[in-house]
Amino acid sequence: MCDLMAIQNKKSSDAVAIVSCMDWRLNFAIDGKISELKREYGENITTYVFRNAGAGVKAFEGSIKDIARDYNLKALVIMPHNEGCKGMGLVFDALKNGVPISSDMKSQLVDPFEKHAFSDTGELERINPKVQAEYARGFLDSSVDIISELVDLKRVKIPEDGEHRIFIMKPGAVKYELSLDDKRGGAYVLQASSLNEVYPDLNVGVNVLKMRKVIFVTSSHEEARQVNTEIRIARMKLGNGVELSQVSTY
Ligand SMILES: [Zn+2]
Repeated sequence: MCDLMAIQNKKSSDAVAIVSCMDWRLNFAIDGKISELKREYGENITTYVFRNAGAGVKAFEGSIKDIARDYNLKALVIMPHNEGCKGMGLVFDALKNGVPISSDMKSQLVDPFEKHAFSDTGELERINPKVQAEYARGFLDSSVDIISELVDLKRVKIPEDGEHRIFIMKPGAVKYELSLDDKRGGAYVLQASSLNEVYPDLNVGVNVLKMRKVIFVTSSHEEARQVNTEIRIARMKLGNGVELSQVSTY
């Protein structure tokens, strides 16, 4: 009975979900989008942000369906970008150059592009909003707005480049500008319900982009305990040479 009431209360509250790329240059653009969504849907709207290589929606399908079940999901906002998306580079290499890719990455990121025509990575970046929106439409109710727009990195505020490192956090909204100690830029962000959802992307960050610092950000004691297990798993899988740490913020 209590559970049922809790679900009913939650269901009556509104939420929006954002899917974007892990690229550090997007942090300000996503902060700005969250403020914009609050103005449009109300200050109290619950916002979930998911980020991986390339803004691939498929990896987060289960989590987004859970949000649509538990909340009145008003919109899914998809924010891929141009100016050298590494995720689109992976798709291009896999489909045009036959470069090997993990089966998880192939299924989550590459497969939705298989039926689309493109001749270079710039074109892939331009069709990415459409490809992701089509995929999302396949599993979301028609009452949910799907807003999928390319972030033009030539036109948004980007701080000076800094040391490239990966932050991993849960999908709750934070203001990256304040919470990541990112005055100089360089903070890649993976945001997901569990490490599993973004492990292929973490693997790319460490083994392809050669980033050596991985920082897990937690917001509560409970989350810190769960994340401890994830850190142990990441340590086993990634081996030595990668510095893994945990910080709590906000
Ligand atoms: Zn990208």
